[in-house]
Amino acid sequence: MSRFFSQRHEALVPYTPGEQPSGQKLIKLNTNESPYPPSPAVLAAAQAEAGRCNLYSELQPQELTNAMAQLLGVDAENVMMTNGSDEALYLSFLAFFDEKRPVAFPDITYGFYTVYADLFHIPQTIIPLEQDFTIDPAKYESIGQNVVIANPNAPTGRMLPLDKIEGIVRSNPDHIVLIDEAYVDFGGVSAVSLTRKYDNLLVVGTFSKSRSLAGARLGYVVGDPALIRDLNTIRYSLNPYNVNRMTAAAGLAALRDNDYYMANCRRIIETRQWVTDRLCAMGFEVLPSATNFILAKTPKMGGRELYTRLREKGILVRYLGGERIREYNRITIGAREEMEAFIRAVEEIIGG
Ligand SMILES: *Cc1c(COP(=O)(O)O)cnc(C)c1O
Repeated sequence: MSRFFSQRHEALVPYTPGEQPSGQKLIKLNTNESPYPPSPAVLAAAQAEAGRCNLYSELQPQELTNAMAQLLGVDAENVMMTNGSDEALYLSFLAFFDEKRPVAFPDITYGFYTVYADLFHIPQTIIPLEQDFTIDPAKYESIGQNVVIANPNAPTGRMLPLDKIEGIVRSNPDHIVLIDEAYVDFGGVSAVSLTRKYDNLLVVGTFSKSRSLAGARLGYVVGDPALIRDLNTIRYSLNPYNVNRMTAAAGLAALRDNDYYMANCRRIIETRQWVTDRLCAMGFEVLPSATNFILAKTPKMGGRELYTRLREKGILVRYLGGERIREYNRITIGAREEMEAFIRAVEEIIGG
């Protein structure tokens, strides 16, 4: 820390991203990316737009926003496009939470929630997941605080049904309930339709997982028009040109190619079932997943050791550590061939 670093941030512990190794031939199952490339139309659209990069991007990519709204069944004034969903999350934290407006979320969830709350000095109520790593909705109903829930949750993969989400939203009418739907396309049920009915609900989504654009950075947030206007006030105060031209063009093409991406999601769901069955046959415990990853442990070996032994064999999974999930690894569901290599490696390590 330099002697110039603001005292406000002295105690800040930043988010730890998954490794992005360069130059090594690893099978990468550690950051929940899609194993499938963007569709040809997406590549063509991004390339065509690159020639216009001398001009600033649109303040809000209108065609993309309209197409997104149409796909979600809402109006364009209900939608704001962002630079990855991480931006949608921190703009929401900045806009709606503060020292006097605390936020509640589970102990095991997306690591950025606590980092943003720390960065912005927002008090946090951390609610432990149940023994089976599910969320007990009763612990959030009428809590009288802002709430952030990833649904399906990460890194557990477990999902809350829509009526439970609605109960949390309905019982906290004077607080924001933010649902992070990064993984909704892998078997979740979206809460977007509820944004028509509740003015305190925000739903955040991303093109990083199901739409093969993690490296392009594109996300969105859906909610009541008044909430979207507030979010725009903050966005215009930080980075009005937040979605670059190539990404906006790529995102629009991706929405037009929706069938390609939804077919990829179905392949991932099939592969997820195959991997789960194989691991269970080897004595693993695998949490039920509605996402493109699984959280798994074996009684035969500690979580960190399995991570290390897999890495030696060129397979990178995510070991998260932490008290309650130290025995587990989070394994992204890749292409079928990648997962066959993963299963072979596990068999060699723990002896089939
Ligand atoms: C991956 C992820 C995000 C962030 O995705 P972006 O790449 O910033 O769109 C947000 N929430 C959860 C739960 C995630 O797993």
